[in-house]
Amino acid sequence: MTVLPVTEIFSSIQGEGPYVGVRQIFLRLPRCNLTCPYCDTPTESFPSLRLERMPGSQVFDFVDNPISVEALFTLLQAFDLSGYHSLSVTGGEPLLWAAELADLLPRVKGEGFPVYLETNGTLPEPLSRILPWVDFISMDIKLPFGGQTFWAKHEEFLRRSLDKEVFVKIVVHKENILEDLEKARDLIARVDPTITTVLQPLTEKNGLIAPEPSQVLMWQAYFLDKLKDVRVIPQTHVFLGVC
Ligand code: SF4
Repeated sequence: MTVLPVTEIFSSIQGEGPYVGVRQIFLRLPRCNLTCPYCDTPTESFPSLRLERMPGSQVFDFVDNPISVEALFTLLQAFDLSGYHSLSVTGGEPLLWAAELADLLPRVKGEGFPVYLETNGTLPEPLSRILPWVDFISMDIKLPFGGQTFWAKHEEFLRRSLDKEVFVKIVVHKENILEDLEKARDLIARVDPTITTVLQPLTEKNGLIAPEPSQVLMWQAYFLDKLKDVRVIPQTHVFLGVC
C-alpha cells in the first residue's frame, strides 16, 4: 500500500501565472529541497492533513497523515470535479513524492481530470517518472540565492517538459541583477523561445523588497528581445485574500 504525507486539500483559484483565476482543487504536499528566502509556503509534515470541504470557509476537517493513496483519491473524488479546471499538485516541492504520485495520478487521469504540476523545476529525473499523467507544468526558474545556482537542472527540466504545456515563472525582487536575468532568459531561449514566461514581482517577505515598476518593465522588455511571450503577473490570491 502506497502512503503519502499531505499538508492540505482545498478548492480555490489559481493565483499565479497564465492560468490565474481558474478554479482548481489544490493538493499540497510537504517538504522542499530548496530554501528560497521569499518562501511563503508551509513545508512541514504534520500528523494530520487539513481538508477544507467548503471553499473559502476556513473550516477544516483533519485526517490522519500519512494517508493511503486509495483514501486520498476518495477524498479528491468527493469534490464535484466537473466544475474544475484541474488538480493542482503543489508544495513544498511535490516531485519529492514522485514515487507516490506515480500511484495517485493515473487514478486522477482515469477520471478524465487534468493534472497541473507546480514545481521549482530542479528535479528532472523525478519529473520523468510522473510526466505521462501531467497536463500542465508551472515551472519556476530560481534566480541564484545564498550562493546557489540551478541553471543546469532548470535547463534539463525544461527540456524534459516540452511535450506538455509548460510555462516558466520567475519571482523577481528589487535586488536582482541583470546578469542573472540574462542567464534565465537565454536558458529559456535555448530550449524554446515560444515558452510563456511570467515575471512575478515579489510579494514582500523576509526583508526582501518588491521591484520598482520601472525595473519590471525594463526586465520585461529585455526578455522580449529573445522570447515571444513574456508577461508580468503578481500573486493575485494574496491581493484577493484567498488561499
Ligand atoms: S521552492 Fe517553493 S516551497 Fe520550496 S522553498 Fe522555494 S518557494 Fe518555498
